[in-house]
Amino acid sequence: MLGHGYVRYIDHFGSDQRIVETARISYKSPSKGEDQDKRLLHYLYRNRHTSPFEACNITFNIKMPIFCMRQFVRHRTFRLNEWSGRYSELAEEFYTPTEWRLQDDKNKQGSILPTARSLTWNEENTAIAAESFRQSYAAYQELLERGVAKEMARIVLPVSLFTEIYVNVDVHNLMHFLNLRQDGHAQSEIREIADGMAEIAEQLFPWTFEARSRYKVHIEDTWED
Ligand SMILES: Cc1cc2nc3c(=O)[nH]c(=O)nc-3n(C[C@H](O)[C@H](O)[C@H](O)COP(=O)(O)OP(=O)(O)OC[C@H]3O[C@@H](n4cnc5c(N)ncnc54)[C@H](O)[C@@H]3O)c2cc1C
Repeated sequence: MLGHGYVRYIDHFGSDQRIVETARISYKSPSKGEDQDKRLLHYLYRNRHTSPFEACNITFNIKMPIFCMRQFVRHRTFRLNEWSGRYSELAEEFYTPTEWRLQDDKNKQGSILPTARSLTWNEENTAIAAESFRQSYAAYQELLERGVAKEMARIVLPVSLFTEIYVNVDVHNLMHFLNLRQDGHAQSEIREIADGMAEIAEQLFPWTFEARSRYKVHIEDTWED
């Protein structure tokens, strides 16, 4: 996704059944069959009994541009480890859009797809960006060749460069992240990452996703900054 990026499943702990089982300790009651269990999970989700959802978690391997990563790390409940640009030479991999968006007049933080622009407008934007990336990476290489430490040479690289993480998150906080970052107010690039995570997680926790789509949290217009 986004050119060089991806979201990969590593492993997970728990299941929808485990969420229900965790909740049932409140009453020390055993499972009453699949239908009842599913109803209980929906009840928990709808009424924000969140702690049983924290009993399960997923680990992903995600490769994304640094500007997405900056948004990603605002989610403090993620447990993650990132590829080190102090330790390794960073790869010449930049996010280079082929479809450029215009600044949205109404939402200062948003963007819109152009309706009437010439075909060359996109291509010219891509060419401007690609040339800038080429120059930045050449400067990075030159500094390394001059003996500059990796941790310093990288300062010339742009936020479109790809980085990579292993990240673990519990199911409650994953849902919170997805509600914010799959929403139309989020930048489309991080939405793509969030969609990839949701696609994997939904296969592991189908009842939870069903409950989420039924009782979806509506995000009001975000503040603009
Ligand atoms: C569309 C959009 C636009 C945004 N624009 C901006 C922007 O312009 N500038 C900017 O700086 N940020 C921006 N953000 C980031 C936003 O303000 C939040 O920091 C980010 O979405 C993480 O949300 P969170 O704190 O609910 O999530 P998490 O950090 O994952 O926290 C999850 C939950 O745990 C609680 N929690 C976590 N850690 C603590 C703690 N230490 N103490 C108390 N409670 C804790 C949180 O309150 C929250 O309920 C934007 C986010 C979105 C989705």
